[in-house]
Amino acid sequence: MRIIIGGMNHESNTFNPIITGEEDFIVFYGKEILHEGLSPHYSSTGIIQALTEAGCELVPTVLARAVPNGVVSAALYQKIKNEFISRIQKALETGPIDGICLALHGSMKVDGLGCAEGDLVQAIRNLLPDIPFTAALDMHATITPQLMAGVDGFVGYKTAPHIDCAQTGFHAAHILLTSLKTGKKPLSAYRRIPMLIAGEKSESEAEPMRSLIEQCRIAEQIPGIEAASFLLGFPWADDEYNAVSCLVTTLEDEQLASAKAAELAAEFWNHREEFAFRSEYYDSQLAIATAYRAVLEQKESPVFVSDSGDNPTAGATGDATELLEQILGTIATVDKLPTPLLYTGFFDAPAAAACIDAGVGNELDIHLGGNWDTVNGRPIPLHVTVKSIAPNFGPYHADLVLVQYRNLLISITSKHIGFGDEELLPRLGINAADFCMVVVKLGYLEPCFRTIAKRAIMATSKGCSNEVLESIAYKKVKRPLYPLDRNI
Ligand SMILES: [Zn+2]
Repeated sequence: MRIIIGGMNHESNTFNPIITGEEDFIVFYGKEILHEGLSPHYSSTGIIQALTEAGCELVPTVLARAVPNGVVSAALYQKIKNEFISRIQKALETGPIDGICLALHGSMKVDGLGCAEGDLVQAIRNLLPDIPFTAALDMHATITPQLMAGVDGFVGYKTAPHIDCAQTGFHAAHILLTSLKTGKKPLSAYRRIPMLIAGEKSESEAEPMRSLIEQCRIAEQIPGIEAASFLLGFPWADDEYNAVSCLVTTLEDEQLASAKAAELAAEFWNHREEFAFRSEYYDSQLAIATAYRAVLEQKESPVFVSDSGDNPTAGATGDATELLEQILGTIATVDKLPTPLLYTGFFDAPAAAACIDAGVGNELDIHLGGNWDTVNGRPIPLHVTVKSIAPNFGPYHADLVLVQYRNLLISITSKHIGFGDEELLPRLGINAADFCMVVVKLGYLEPCFRTIAKRAIMATSKGCSNEVLESIAYKKVKRPLYPLDRNI
């Protein structure tokens, strides 16, 4: 059997003015996907493994990924889409295609176009109208009518932080294989749940998500149900389709899919008031003050503070300065800390370039932040010393810089990348565990930080991933929507 595989993964934050372009994406073509697509963080891994084990002939097309950011450039998306289409057309010249299984995010938006995945699957359907089509989705997927119309079977991640990417891909491929074996097409029922949830309120290890996800797993044991998923939407996209949804996939059993989706959606809705932040949280000023007290009076170390409103892995710019300004306003306290305060970090290409030009050990004046987020950020003048430089870091080839201002150390990146990567600080010659206080542009702490954090405080800071959804000026989301509208 010949199966089309590929994928497209981006979470587009419509509050972030950056247009995500070619330099932000890593794109693999054709056979490259068969090895480059194998990472525990990619659902393509499970898709490739399941289909290979089943003896299928894989037809790899395109696998495109970028760190969450602003909406994607229309020209770049068109290029990716054209590659998908031309590779499928070429494959059709040499024989029939039996199925399609894609690794998608589900919340990628294109400048001026909207839902990227919906547009892509429609274009693929124009070439391959009748064969079974399944997709693995991120838990933060937004379900649109186009996406529903194009794809037959869906499976979403069941964990946040996402640690079941490969399993989800495996599951999506398995539904396709079952369909091909039985000759029955996957069929999915959809229920919209009129609510949005701040990312940091929906960790799958915390209630009520833990129990709700368990309900999906139980549903998947029912004969006839292939998959049951809650897709949470993406709160930092102002989009008419943005909401939580429940998808249940069966093989041609519309009644079963529909009844189970309705039941699970009702269950989710009944728990809406129980979603809460898992860690202690305060506004920026109080978060910083609480952390200072924890270090200086309670002798706790390291104390982490998440600059959650400007989390690049949630598509924020990474250059909002609200929390930095709170720290600079209390710099006399920072100077009393037993180790430097480590702030990781800032996306600021001009500042990183200036520091690299100056070189390690030298002092210079920079302006930090506020290049992109001009609402919650402004360029902050700082006289810094360059402590270390690490060029060409990670898959996105970011240049990393560590600078010091008084008793404050700040990491700066030349590319828009996340700061939860456990390799990032060691590349700069430091470890988070050696600092009494670590501020990080992140939401919930990734395992590498969580395991060493003596205390984790979330600052509900200002930025493009503002966790206080009620304070976001949405214009396009369909109302009523909980918690923006409490009495629905
Ligand atoms: Zn996600």
